[in-house]
Amino acid sequence: MIKIDSELCKGCDLCIESCPKHVYQKSSKENKKGVYLPFPENEEKCNKCHLCELMCPDQAITVEDEDDHGKDDNKDDHDENISDDK
Ligand code: SF4
Ligand code: SF4
Repeated sequence: MIKIDSELCKGCDLCIESCPKHVYQKSSKENKKGVYLPFPENEEKCNKCHLCELMCPDQAITVEDEDDHGKDDNKDDHDENISDDK
């Protein structure tokens, strides 16, 4: 599971550009700063190298090592990959 903190993300696109598996795409979802957030469109291709976490200047990305796709029960009304609870 890849989580992106929408409050921390500043839309620099470093994660999109640095991911060797081309997991991220720009989404049409804006945060409060008015930037379009990245979305892990091809999350199934992720090899958990954590490069995107390291590249993100704002520590907005969390790559969880366990495979837990498709669980959406305890989320709020946002996309499961995008958290803005800060
Ligand atoms: S952990 Fe690696 S493969 Fe997965 S999204 Fe981040 S940079 Fe891409
Ligand atoms: S690298 Fe971090 S701040 Fe930049 S677009 Fe990706 S999640 Fe947002």
